[in-house]
Amino acid sequence: MAHPDDVDFGAAGTVAKWTEAGVEVVYCIVTDGDAGGSDPSVSRADMVVLRRAEQVAAAKCVGVDDVRFLGYPDGRVEPSISLRKDLTRVIRQVRPDRVVAPSPERNYARVQASHPDHRAVGAAALDAVYPDARNQFAFPELLADEGLEPWVVREVWVSASPQAHHYVDITATFGNKLAALQAHQSQTGQMEDLEGFLRGWLSRAAAMAGLPEGRLAEAFQVLTTG
Ligand SMILES: [Zn+2]
Repeated sequence: MAHPDDVDFGAAGTVAKWTEAGVEVVYCIVTDGDAGGSDPSVSRADMVVLRRAEQVAAAKCVGVDDVRFLGYPDGRVEPSISLRKDLTRVIRQVRPDRVVAPSPERNYARVQASHPDHRAVGAAALDAVYPDARNQFAFPELLADEGLEPWVVREVWVSASPQAHHYVDITATFGNKLAALQAHQSQTGQMEDLEGFLRGWLSRAAAMAGLPEGRLAEAFQVLTTG
């Protein structure tokens, strides 16, 4: 994901279900979130420290202990070769069956979901899944210098996709998701009714999925990449 808090808005309820089922989840956050918050008296260097701590605390709310930061500057991410290499490195280190990534497409129905950093990270992540991570001749120094063997990711779950078609009922883990988002105090502390906002948004997704009234859902576009 691009920023600290993206995974919690998009997927924390689903992540909590996975970790409860014994699935190991690793977060990789591309930027430091140094353009976040709304208080000009907080230095950007302090904001980086704060946002990393908030993301680590949020991860704990949904059973995730391994959080990796790539340290790119917030607001200036491009789907560059160097980002593809950095994401390929993490994929080869972690060897995941499934990758969750933001959508590289602009979602015209929900403009805030399509921050340029999100689109850049989504594009680079999909390129890292295919072809880079599985191709021994892509970034050969990863294999030669770091011993990182090629790896095939079997599935990508795209978050905030304009073509979401897969819904996860997260009613049972909504409390974990809310706690995770509350841990991002610098981002959500100003929101008047975070819980109400989330319930409204996730209820609409549940209705799209045909779930009964009162249920909450997160939405993804699932790609087979194996
Ligand atoms: Zn973001």
